[in-house]
Amino acid sequence: MTDIPTLANFIDNAFVAADASAETLAVTTPHTGAVIAHVPLSPASAVDAAVASAKQAFDAWSQQTLKTRASTLLRLLVVLQAHASELAQLIVREHGKTLAEAHGDVAKGLETLEYAVGLPQLCSGHAQQVSGGVSCRDERVALGVVCGIVPFNFPLMVPFWTIPLALGMGNTYVLKPSEKCPLTMLRVAELAGQVLPPGVLNLVNGGQRVAEMLVDHADTRAVAFVGSSAVARMVHVRASVAGKRVVALGGAKNHLVALPDCDVEMAARDIVVSFTGCAGQRCMAASVLLVVGEQPELLRRVVERARQLMPGTTEPQAMGPVIDQAAFDRITSAIEHAETADHAEVLLDGRRTASFLEKRRDTGGFWLGPTVLLHRAAGDQAVRQEVFGPVLSVLQCRDLDHALAVENSSAYGNAACVYTRQGALAEYFERRVGAAMVGVNVGVPVPREPFSFGGTKDSRFGYGDITGDAALDFFSFRRKVTTKWGEPSEKSWMH
Ligand code: NAD
Repeated sequence: MTDIPTLANFIDNAFVAADASAETLAVTTPHTGAVIAHVPLSPASAVDAAVASAKQAFDAWSQQTLKTRASTLLRLLVVLQAHASELAQLIVREHGKTLAEAHGDVAKGLETLEYAVGLPQLCSGHAQQVSGGVSCRDERVALGVVCGIVPFNFPLMVPFWTIPLALGMGNTYVLKPSEKCPLTMLRVAELAGQVLPPGVLNLVNGGQRVAEMLVDHADTRAVAFVGSSAVARMVHVRASVAGKRVVALGGAKNHLVALPDCDVEMAARDIVVSFTGCAGQRCMAASVLLVVGEQPELLRRVVERARQLMPGTTEPQAMGPVIDQAAFDRITSAIEHAETADHAEVLLDGRRTASFLEKRRDTGGFWLGPTVLLHRAAGDQAVRQEVFGPVLSVLQCRDLDHALAVENSSAYGNAACVYTRQGALAEYFERRVGAAMVGVNVGVPVPREPFSFGGTKDSRFGYGDITGDAALDFFSFRRKVTTKWGEPSEKSWMH
């Protein structure tokens, strides 16, 4: 017990222990269920200290030129690149991803930082003479202290969807990491302290209450939230009522549509990668496969490929565990409900896959194999609700319009993909699909910078998108400056 650390917060470039009386939660490693740290549910005094530090740092940081801030971010990039392996190992430990997935988590996070290093090339404003002797120009101005509240499933990448761009634009930041995976970002904050001035990036540990305090705090100006839809909706309302700028990304139910002309081998491979990657715990993961027409060979290959995955961390065909016991129970009861209440046929049953059962028994970890369900009705619970695990719900559709109708009726609107060899069919799909991020033969269609990330409907509440060029608007306002120098040579509306 004694060698299990209780995590500190990171405020003003220093570790600060949360109040000794603060309640803590156990952080477990999903591989074995063992406790690896205790995370404090920080009190209001810690939130106040973090926000005060960020507020204090804001003036000097925002008054630097964009080029100066970008060069600091470049130094941050170099530091984090040098520690990429260490950070990936932390992600494996606290999240349970495979090593390759954890390296991907780090690499994708650092891509946003690379983009932010280029902000001086992206942020010039407009200037124009608008009247005799009178000019207008605009410039982007930082908002102040902004906060980020993030989910467990990408311990580094999701915080980095916003941190580099928020800082690049001149804001200072307070992050609340997920209480399930707090270790990675705590180490990142410590490393960032080597190059960022004190107070520019602060981290406060906690759960719902700390998140609410950050949203409510009189000195936070904007909220970037990523998590489940129920919480995203609440955070959006709460921040909006407080008059804050807020973007709140929620959950997902992503549909993949396999048309009869698709490349069966390529589609099968891509579908399995999409629904089993990170043990299905990706907001971009395939969740519903809509098979247009009879395609027994596609289904056979999907099931066979998924069956070959083995529980593990480093093997080429490894799949990691799900995050915790609660997730394991939620996912297995969704499968149970599909089988017994909705009478779905279980084509592959991850609850009973021998290798995963054995691993679970030997380690005590939250190992659950990939599962494929063949449904009879689009109204089935597992087809409608987010499961957030390695479960694929398959539904047969008469034609593309039928598949589009099912996709469009989803409450969520994060991602969708069509598998086809025909451009005209892909375009037909793109124009009618309800999701905001669309793939053509790409089952995880994440838009990369300069494109922005964000869904629609219950997958995104609030203002704009996250990452890419939309982030420039989110993390700044435009100051319009009108100037007149000397007497104008002609009369205008100004005089
Ligand atoms: P979650 O909603 O349980 O928690 C997310 C964050 O919100 C955590 O930091 C948590 O402490 C905090 N929180 C919990 N209750 C809160 C409340 N009432 N008010 C304010 N903050 C609160 O999500 P999770 O289980 O950590 O992550 C999985 C979910 O995140 C899935 O639904 C997944 O689809 C979604 N997700 C979405 C995206 C996206 O881009 N749309 C990306 C990643 C994950």
